[in-house]
Amino acid sequence: MQFDDDTVDVSGVQDRRGIGGPLAIGGGGVGIVGLLVYLLVSVLGGGSVDPGQLVPGGSPVQGGGGGSTSDLQTRCNAAGAIERYDDCYLVKVYNEINEVWTDEFARRGADYRRPGLTFFTQAVDTGCGQASSQVGPFYCPPDERIYLDIGFLDQLQQQFGAEGRYAQAYVVAHEAGHHLQTLLGTEGKVRALQQSRPDQQNALSVSLELQADCYAGVWSRLADERGNVTITDAELDQALDAAAAVGDDRIQARTQGRVDPESFTHGTAAQRKSWFQKGHTTGDLGACNTFRG
Ligand SMILES: [Zn+2]
Repeated sequence: MQFDDDTVDVSGVQDRRGIGGPLAIGGGGVGIVGLLVYLLVSVLGGGSVDPGQLVPGGSPVQGGGGGSTSDLQTRCNAAGAIERYDDCYLVKVYNEINEVWTDEFARRGADYRRPGLTFFTQAVDTGCGQASSQVGPFYCPPDERIYLDIGFLDQLQQQFGAEGRYAQAYVVAHEAGHHLQTLLGTEGKVRALQQSRPDQQNALSVSLELQADCYAGVWSRLADERGNVTITDAELDQALDAAAAVGDDRIQARTQGRVDPESFTHGTAAQRKSWFQKGHTTGDLGACNTFRG
């Protein structure tokens, strides 16, 4: 995978690694507020995340706070940094995602607002409450930020068996897909529907997640077409494999030893893979209607 240039721009990025406090897990029940907070965030995969991993009451992250990003800016713009450092690579992917969506929104006569990107370790305060890195990468609609614990990249490879740089790009592109859903108003509509139709809650969540996968595929196609990134067929397969690896059926089979389709919140491996592929094949956001039927 190659980028069109080596410039890494850390604006919009927050580095909160090393300042995450211990989580108050197990210190009393997490009530309905905790559940709501949990439902607000969009994690990458795994519907069986314990809501206790998200604790309400954390103060929202203020823009510009946190660790120093100037160190990151310096380090990531040194020769070879994008290949060498995971964080630099992820920021570069984030840059290319914002470039592609800025252009694509402009082409459609709309304004794009970029999401924030926060690196953290262990736990982090977000606009959705406090979150543990155990939930995996996630997007928080109220503060419009993507949260990543870089430790997840190892997990992606070791636990999920998804290898390669482009698998990592898929993760960021999927979370950025949730940001598009916020910008386009889809997320708000779906959350409202989920409240009025509790019986449809999981099915709606699956549609939302598959659409984020499809949007990630559209990004991949447009980024390749525009020359932002150049990927090989093998690298495209890495993203497809990663999408499949975080399918509900795969995760449940691995963690519970059985599969319960009723509880799916993200879709099966086959569905996630095929929606990413559909996005990539068409390069069209309009092809990502996962809510039909
Ligand atoms: Zn998601």
